[in-house]
Amino acid sequence: MAKNYDVIVIGAGPGGMTAALYASRANLSVLMLDRGIYGGQMNNTAEVENYPGFKSILGPDLAKEMYESSTQFDAEYAYGNVERITVTADNTKIIKTDSNEYTTKALIIATGSQYKKLGVPGEEEYSGRGVSYCAVCDGAFFRNREVVVVGGGDSAIEEGSYLTQLVEKVDVVHRRDKLRAQKILQDRAFANSKIDFVWDTIVTEIEGDGQKVTGVMTHNKKTGKDKVLPIGGVFIYVGVEPMTEPFRELGITDEEGWIETNEKMETAVPGIFAIGDVRKKELRQITTAVGDGSIAGQGVFSYIESLK
Ligand code: FAD
Repeated sequence: MAKNYDVIVIGAGPGGMTAALYASRANLSVLMLDRGIYGGQMNNTAEVENYPGFKSILGPDLAKEMYESSTQFDAEYAYGNVERITVTADNTKIIKTDSNEYTTKALIIATGSQYKKLGVPGEEEYSGRGVSYCAVCDGAFFRNREVVVVGGGDSAIEEGSYLTQLVEKVDVVHRRDKLRAQKILQDRAFANSKIDFVWDTIVTEIEGDGQKVTGVMTHNKKTGKDKVLPIGGVFIYVGVEPMTEPFRELGITDEEGWIETNEKMETAVPGIFAIGDVRKKELRQITTAVGDGSIAGQGVFSYIESLK
């Protein structure tokens, strides 16, 4: 028989763990489900320097601190790859994982997003050691060095411009001969003496010395020439995608798959909340995921009270 909870949180990243803390502290029975180790994307982060309370902390260490905090009021944590959600006529949510089935009064979706990968050799190996998908997070580690930004959309140009405040020089490597970014962002980037553009070019390999990135191999699609750019870091902005495959049938996602909520983190389905990076929102960071988590962790209490 399916085990029943007041609240199930899918995803034990910073958002999910905060929601579990608030909901369990309000005396609700809470289960966090994750298909990986607790911590979410914090496990992919070497150092976090922008989470208040810690001048600098390793991502996995912050994950452990949050886990201990989030389980102190008896929130449970279990492995589970969530595959499907159904909602019954009386608004009970049925959660199917690859190995179990659960029922819950309220559901909090905290499954995050993932950066689209380039899919070139060296990318996986040097992720977090020179390969980054987050300039706000990692830019400071490349102070006074040269870096490559891959992409030509808003994120690539915005983040590339941000990086010039920290690094010596930014080469924007773009596969086309013009950018997709908004004109105002393009104008700013073209006027920025620290940004150079490498047009019609793709990155074919990320090179390193076994410890860290040392350069990227590029291929010019027009001339056919290959060239190594010797740099200290590569920031990849070829898009992000939400982890919302199991929730598409609920009618709570926009056309790109992001979950839409109001400011109480409520989705269009009563009793289903969404928090953190999986939401349609501007800034995807640990602090914002934690903020969302506290709102939803409190919100489920009010929702469950309203059922009485
Ligand atoms: P996530 O942390 O993404 O957690 C989502 C969890 O959901 C994961 O554990 C995943 O396994 C689980 N999950 C997904 N789908 C399912 C499913 N179907 N079933 C079960 N479980 C599922 N932010 C900062 O503030 N500072 C930084 O310095 C910083 N550095 C970063 C460096 C890197 C390399 C990256 C990639 C990100 C960085 N970020 C940083 C961003 C930050 O990590 C995220 O904004 C934050 O982790 C989002 O939290 P979340 O709880 O929404 O989701």
